[in-house]
Amino acid sequence: MGADRQLQDVIQQGRQFFHNGRTMDVEFRIEALRMFQAGLRRHETKLMEALKLDLNKSPFEAYSSEIGMLLEEIGIVIKQLRRWAKPTSVKGSMVLFGARGQIYHEPFGQVLIISPWNYPLLLSLSPLIGAIAAGNTAVLKPSELGAHSAAAIANLIEDTFNRTYGEGYVSVVEGGVETSTALLAEKFDYIFFTGGTGVGRVVMEAAAKHLTPVTLELGGKSPCIVHRDADVKLAAKRIVWGKFLNAGQTCVAPDYILVHAAVKDELIRHLQEQIIQFFGSKPLEAPQTNLPNIINSRHFGRLQELLHSTKGTIVCGGITDESRKLIAPTIIDHITWDDTIMAEEIFGPLLPIISFTDLEQEVIGPVVARPKPLALYLFSESDEIHEHILSRISFGGGCVNDAVMHLASKHMPFGGVGASGFGGYHGKSSFDTFSHHKSVLKQTTRFDLPFRYPTMKNGLTWI
Ligand code: NAD
Repeated sequence: MGADRQLQDVIQQGRQFFHNGRTMDVEFRIEALRMFQAGLRRHETKLMEALKLDLNKSPFEAYSSEIGMLLEEIGIVIKQLRRWAKPTSVKGSMVLFGARGQIYHEPFGQVLIISPWNYPLLLSLSPLIGAIAAGNTAVLKPSELGAHSAAAIANLIEDTFNRTYGEGYVSVVEGGVETSTALLAEKFDYIFFTGGTGVGRVVMEAAAKHLTPVTLELGGKSPCIVHRDADVKLAAKRIVWGKFLNAGQTCVAPDYILVHAAVKDELIRHLQEQIIQFFGSKPLEAPQTNLPNIINSRHFGRLQELLHSTKGTIVCGGITDESRKLIAPTIIDHITWDDTIMAEEIFGPLLPIISFTDLEQEVIGPVVARPKPLALYLFSESDEIHEHILSRISFGGGCVNDAVMHLASKHMPFGGVGASGFGGYHGKSSFDTFSHHKSVLKQTTRFDLPFRYPTMKNGLTWI
């Protein structure tokens, strides 16, 4: 059987599963989520092994930034789902006297989830939680660059869902760009894509052909502003953690620092101290083998090129090991906006530093002149500065006095804006994203108000 034929069979099975109506029952979805939770626990060791092979992630990092977050989210959804899934009643109005408005939250049908390699479990399975909760069937297409993780996800899904429900409820299709392109040529009822901005455009174009609604979770350069009144030592600790987690291969990692000139030296000193504290003074040498690696040679080469071409001063790190695709956490000072490292999202363990003295001209001006970032981080003790920055700069989401952690909340929608994407998910917002909210007016038959109808007397005019 040809590859296209196989894909069409997978899609057909998913469609049939949806149309047999089982997923409309909220109790079925809760049972599926419980099985998902148990499956994740059963497969925990295998999933961790795959993350180690693809990215050299330590068990601690694998659990805290992927598996643990998934288990937490499933727990929250199971508790709340019956409430979320009920039709929502809304207020009436004078014109609609006697009628009731209700919003039904119905599944779209069959959804396609395309995910990247950097958090291969979290970024395929967290959207899947939302898709299941809302009553959809799903096809997952994990990234080919995290091949071990993609295979581990396929095993998890096979063991968790296919054994109990048969084919069609959740399917995993492994493969690269060609597979993704073939899937995108088919008609789905919703597409949830996480990846780069360029590929996001390709996905949206393909979706437009079938008028399929999409969520695009994209990337970009996320600024990290450290103002002169910040708690600099604490800021350094939180920035080092957020930036070098997964070797900087995190969509919401601080891409670059904008620091007030008055505290720049102090910040750099603390950043260096924190790097030593977390990764040791020789991070590439044993026993620090838990430093995540760069995903492949192409990305390794790209980062090395950035390192060589920058006009800045490397104040820490800058050491690479090609055979293990490792790059030491690196801080680069004396960067200007036109340095090559400021052109594209870095997506690796290189942290450029630009200093400023004028918040308006040297921070707000240049940031708003560039594509809207996925995240922004602001370190300052002043509420006035917080509100000023938050009101002037548009970005997907972010933190005041922290980095990356907004992603951990299951009570706030996570997503981008402008070039960093659109739509949000996590917790209730995932349920909302994967549901069509169908407005239904239930009219009374106990009486019939005459005002809306035309009469011969008023010449068929609307009164
Ligand atoms: P990518 O866009 O190259 O790949 C993502 C997925 O799209 C993969 O499954 C891949 O097979 C598929 N794909 C690649 N090229 C394609 C094409 N031409 N047509 C159809 N499908 C294609 O992204 P990546 O390198 O895997 O991940 C890194 C990017 O993702 C970064 O820009 C990062 O910021 C972004 N990202 C965003 C988030 C978020 O939540 N917003 C999370 C993680 C990563």
